[in-house]
Amino acid sequence: MALMGQMMSAPLLISSIIKHAARYYGSTEIVSRRTEGDLHRYTYRDCELRARKVAQALGALGVQQGERVGTLAWNGYRHLEVYYGVSGMGAVCHTINPRLFPEQIAYIVNHAEDGYVFFDLTFLPLVEGVAPHCPNVKGWVAMTDRAHMPAESKVPLLCYEELVDAQDGNYEWPLFDENLASSLCYTSGTTGNPKGALYSHRSTVLHSYASALPDALGCSAHDVILPVVPMFHVNAWGLPYSVPLVGAKLVFPGAKLDGASLYELFEQEKVTFSAGVPTVWLGLLQYVQSNNLEFSTFRRTVIGGSAAPPAMIRALEALDVEVIHAWGMTEMSPLGTSCKLLAKHDALSDADRHKIQEKQGRVIYGVDMKIVDGEGKELPWDGKAFGDLMVRGPWIIDRYYRNDSNPLVDGWFPTGDVATIDEDGFMQITDRSKDVIKSGGEWISSIDIENVAAAHPAVHMAACISAYHPKWDERPLLVVVKKPGAEVTREELLQFFEGKVAKWWIPDDVAFVTEIPLTATGKMQKLKLREQFKDYKLPAA
Ligand code: ADP
Repeated sequence: MALMGQMMSAPLLISSIIKHAARYYGSTEIVSRRTEGDLHRYTYRDCELRARKVAQALGALGVQQGERVGTLAWNGYRHLEVYYGVSGMGAVCHTINPRLFPEQIAYIVNHAEDGYVFFDLTFLPLVEGVAPHCPNVKGWVAMTDRAHMPAESKVPLLCYEELVDAQDGNYEWPLFDENLASSLCYTSGTTGNPKGALYSHRSTVLHSYASALPDALGCSAHDVILPVVPMFHVNAWGLPYSVPLVGAKLVFPGAKLDGASLYELFEQEKVTFSAGVPTVWLGLLQYVQSNNLEFSTFRRTVIGGSAAPPAMIRALEALDVEVIHAWGMTEMSPLGTSCKLLAKHDALSDADRHKIQEKQGRVIYGVDMKIVDGEGKELPWDGKAFGDLMVRGPWIIDRYYRNDSNPLVDGWFPTGDVATIDEDGFMQITDRSKDVIKSGGEWISSIDIENVAAAHPAVHMAACISAYHPKWDERPLLVVVKKPGAEVTREELLQFFEGKVAKWWIPDDVAFVTEIPLTATGKMQKLKLREQFKDYKLPAA
């Protein structure tokens, strides 16, 4: 007969995280740059009380458990209150990326059937543009106080502070099944319509535990954590949950994500740890280097979302900042792997250590991965064989929201990434399958090419895409933005590749541009570049 364990049964609910932070780290601060222009400070205790008032206000508006509530907002304390208020009462917090095209935003709001949408004042013009196309939204809530409400607006608005002030906070977080939906994020949909990943309370709490571990993001109550990655980009990689879970001080940058503003906040609030995509660190690094500055407390950062160029890892290391290279995706809540070295790597030379740090790293407990060939056969872990990367685990999607097709293959989720895995389980992305360059049937990793280019002192940003070649079908074309004031010729750049990659990997040509288009999540938009260069004639072709 089965013998059941005899432990208390407590559902893993998101509200338990903010309750914990308020009770055990009640006086720890949350500091936010507001859209109103000033710096706001309060504590986890204040945050939890106001999150309860948000939950009450939603109840008063008639929001039901399971109903979707959208947000169009920067990283800030009110957004955090909405995160906890909405999920905590049993509704679904649907974060929308305001950098998407208005048509995509309207599509997402309608697809999710958001009942209410909370937005920062920055996005009023956006709201006015999409509201007429979103007939099912019952109310648009401006996240500010009465004094800062817009004098006029084309859309009837509710005032966030008035909604909160009308409540007394006398509210108990409800208990319910941990498998209920808690939040919703859409992939940015570089091709086709965006697809929704619907997280549960259980998946979110498990992901928060795992991502706080020392070999993952390594968050602790000692830290001051500033998520640069937006709360509308896969829940800021879970930091709004894992930071309160460990009781660290939380700093929110609001809308100001330029190098100077970030540096000022890092120094002023004594930030120790941060997280963001490579393009953000480009701006911050440029500011710090060109002004000969140092970081006095900032010591660790997570870089993910796209490959962290080795030159960036080393530049941050020179400033005494350890880079934790991490990989994941919206469908994975998002964390899958992080690149923390093993004890056996301690004795490595700097050069050998850097080679490992360029990898996307080891899985965190909870995630299982494998690489497979075209027939679905598992490939060896030798650091050389590359194939389609597949994952499974309790915070990885089973299916997309309101979509009947099954995305899984034999119970595994195909990531769309191509990767190698070495003997120690360190995974390295060689490409997104749609970005791989297929030259004469052989594959060239666009990421490898970009990593070499990014190490050239005159290169600000580099993207490698395929260009048509009559003999080889595709050949690599390097698209480069130079650093301000820097000079480099096509020949010099191509020469720079000699000895760094196989000869036949060296790009056929270099195109200098003033700007590389970025996606809504700050990644180089290679699809658009490929369109832009679709008629490009390679010199050898
Ligand atoms: P989208 O790009 O559509 O917004 P995600 O933010 O979920 O979607 O992006 C997930 C993808 O980003 C991964 O499948 C992978 O291709 C890429 N990615 C994420 N982290 C890394 C990394 N550290 N190195 C290389 N690619 C990465």
